[in-house]
Amino acid sequence: MTMRIAVIGAGLAGLTAAWQLQQLGLTPLVLEAGHDPGGRARSAPLDGAILDVGAWSFPSSSVLTTLARSVGIGAEVVTVSATVGRPTGGRLRAAPLRSPLALLGRRVFSPDEAWHALRARAMAGCPRAQGPDEPAAAWVARHFPPSFQADVLRPLAGLFFLQDPISLSRDALLGTLASLGRARLQTFRAGMGTLATTLATQVPVRYGARVNALTPDDGGVQVAGDDWSDTFDAAILATPLPEAQALLGLLLPPLARAAATGLTYAPALVVHLLIRGRWPTTALVVLPPSGDSASASCGMVMQRAIHPARVPPSHDALALYAAPEHVTALTMVDDQRVAEILTEDVERWVPGTRRHVIGWRVQRWPTAAARIEVGRSARIEQLEAGLAEVSRDYPIWVAGDYLGLSSVDGAARTGKEAGTACATALTMMRAGR
Ligand SMILES: Cc1cc2nc3c(=O)[nH]c(=O)nc-3n(C[C@H](O)[C@H](O)[C@H](O)COP(=O)(O)OP(=O)(O)OC[C@H]3O[C@@H](n4cnc5c(N)ncnc54)[C@H](O)[C@@H]3O)c2cc1C
Repeated sequence: MTMRIAVIGAGLAGLTAAWQLQQLGLTPLVLEAGHDPGGRARSAPLDGAILDVGAWSFPSSSVLTTLARSVGIGAEVVTVSATVGRPTGGRLRAAPLRSPLALLGRRVFSPDEAWHALRARAMAGCPRAQGPDEPAAAWVARHFPPSFQADVLRPLAGLFFLQDPISLSRDALLGTLASLGRARLQTFRAGMGTLATTLATQVPVRYGARVNALTPDDGGVQVAGDDWSDTFDAAILATPLPEAQALLGLLLPPLARAAATGLTYAPALVVHLLIRGRWPTTALVVLPPSGDSASASCGMVMQRAIHPARVPPSHDALALYAAPEHVTALTMVDDQRVAEILTEDVERWVPGTRRHVIGWRVQRWPTAAARIEVGRSARIEQLEAGLAEVSRDYPIWVAGDYLGLSSVDGAARTGKEAGTACATALTMMRAGR
């Protein structure tokens, strides 16, 4: 008899877990609360453009590249040219992200900023020399002038971690600085959502199926929603941590519960603008100009630079990321006003942009990314120890980006691991019967 496994959540963690289970001869059913696959790695159309409403890239070393090949869309993976741009001296200057010197040469950074960026990169090469981890902002304050913090660290932390530098771990920041220029960024030609939508055609998914309760039952697991329930041989929980924690409830040992409480998420808010005509840069990431302390945005990602096929030939699409310190206040503001506030930033950076805006979309993420804070790895270890106890006592496994780096790669890796662990345990159990 085939074994039925409930996989809760159709983000990349859940879909990868289901794919892995299926490869190993089990029968998964993905239960998704929403009506689309992909979770935080979805794409959406806007008047002929394809927008990545959440994640937009992954490193070439990612498990996503092999996964894409396995599901037959290897040819859809494209490399993104990593360039950074900045409005400087009335022009939008762009340069390859690979070295601060290149940024200096093209005047994206001032000589002072380039010098500090070079020093930061050199220090990133030997993080051990820095001593125990600490908040990135404290480390920067000791080594660099306040302007470097405001003009370089703030947008970097906001765009790459969706987090303010006050709480961001210094080691995580240094790791990113060290990898800039080394890692090749990749994505899917027709949007990050391509992988999730393809996986969702190859494994069974039930949409509109929010799971409210998970109860171990006679060697299996009973899974229930508002007006339905079903029994499975095992379950894989692939939701963000708050939902996983609520579903596991008292099954999670007290120490792991305490650790989970200390693992929090940063919210994010992204305004997508569709522009008539070409915006005057080919840069992938555009940072606010030096000294623009008034900006509500910490920078933007250009959809055309991700891949030209993403936008109609005579248009551009800009994804403006709200600065992490403004996201909570913007929660109280309606979408139209939020779009206006962030458009005012772009108007200041490149005057005349506003009158070319022909469409917009506001995307709010209450749990956008696990906060990478000092002490996080100890909490993750404690949580993982508790989750291992759960899997030892009940046929329940857990996957999700919060267990790794908060990224699509982290999500898919933990999904693959949970699928393998679940299949191995069930196969051994069946053999022992
Ligand atoms: C704006 C933004 C930009 C990002 N940029 C990048 C990037 O460029 N590169 C990168 O690597 N990462 C990026 N990330 C992070 C990345 O998107 C996530 O780490 C990853 O997609 C998380 O995948 P997941 O499967 O763990 O969780 P999710 O994608 O959150 O999937 C969880 C799924 O579970 C469902 N669910 C929740 N509760 C229940 C329930 N009770 N019952 C049934 N279903 C439920 C949800 O609806 C969701 O579909 C970004 C995130 C955001 C928000």
